[in-house]
Amino acid sequence: MKHLFLFIFTLSSFNVLSKTDSPIAFAIHGGAGTITKANLSDEREAEYRAKLSESVKAGYAVLVGGGSSEEAVIKAIQVMEASPLFNAGIGAVFTWDGEHELDASIMRGQDKQAGAVAGVKRTKSPIAAAQLVMNESVHVMLSGAGADDFAQANGLEMTTNNTFDTERRQKALEKVKQNILKNDHAMNIDPEVVDYKFGTVGAVALDKNGNLAAGTSTGGMTAKRWGRIGDSPIIGAGTWADNESCAVSATGHGEYFIRNHVAADICSRVKYAGKTIQEAGDEVIHQVLSPEAGSGGVIIMDSKGNVAMPFNSEGMYRASIDTKGKVTVAIYGDKT
Ligand code: ASP
Repeated sequence: MKHLFLFIFTLSSFNVLSKTDSPIAFAIHGGAGTITKANLSDEREAEYRAKLSESVKAGYAVLVGGGSSEEAVIKAIQVMEASPLFNAGIGAVFTWDGEHELDASIMRGQDKQAGAVAGVKRTKSPIAAAQLVMNESVHVMLSGAGADDFAQANGLEMTTNNTFDTERRQKALEKVKQNILKNDHAMNIDPEVVDYKFGTVGAVALDKNGNLAAGTSTGGMTAKRWGRIGDSPIIGAGTWADNESCAVSATGHGEYFIRNHVAADICSRVKYAGKTIQEAGDEVIHQVLSPEAGSGGVIIMDSKGNVAMPFNSEGMYRASIDTKGKVTVAIYGDKT
């Protein structure tokens, strides 16, 4: 009798599982750049791995709890925005004038709704502001003081610009400025000359309802001026999500990603040319960006929860939890 009960119980729990057994998966990046074992101390490496792991697990936990891909993306990005390790929120790079101008965007795959903010200075979580634009406005992109005002009017937490300051980024600004002045370039980011690491953050997710989402948040590039805006808040360049193809978040030298419409191009190759996300991502990163010397990478997720993370820089901070629940955290080019 006891065995019969156990048998029936096991069978029914299996049925429950199989009915709701649609895959969930999650992936993040914390920026691509000249990241090599030689220029990252063991201590610093451990800090990055711990924070990447915390962020990817926080996003995944939202999905496990039945939350949407949109909520999972926001959650994971906010973990990284709050960490001084990444170039987003606290730890954002400095502008030429010694301030922070933050950009972020988010897109939902099921209805292709999107929201973005560019050049915000007072909004504590730029990704939350991008979500607000998507859900509470009729617009896709707001910029500058107006975007901050909109966030404030809708109840987001505001802060002072120097909340985002870190000593490390201050030093980077001084170095980059010296280099720019010496070379008489508007923006020289040659990693051979300046140890320039990108550190933008992003996430892609597939939830239990089969919906994809992608989001990206950044401080942009060190010493940017004249209101420069990169690819991160540009839908189609730095962020894209469409349930019929894939979700993408990018990191790298934004001008190249804008000109090549990188995130949307990858998903178009999946949608119209039948490529896998790995093939499409490899093509765009290695055959389109690399010949132009556009450096960076992307994280990509398809509607089955497959993940691809191609990049052409030395490293890219990244982590994923696949459809089987396997956690992977990596930094360098050799998958470690
Ligand atoms: N893509 C960002 C930008 O150009 C920088 C980065 O990914 O680190 O603003």
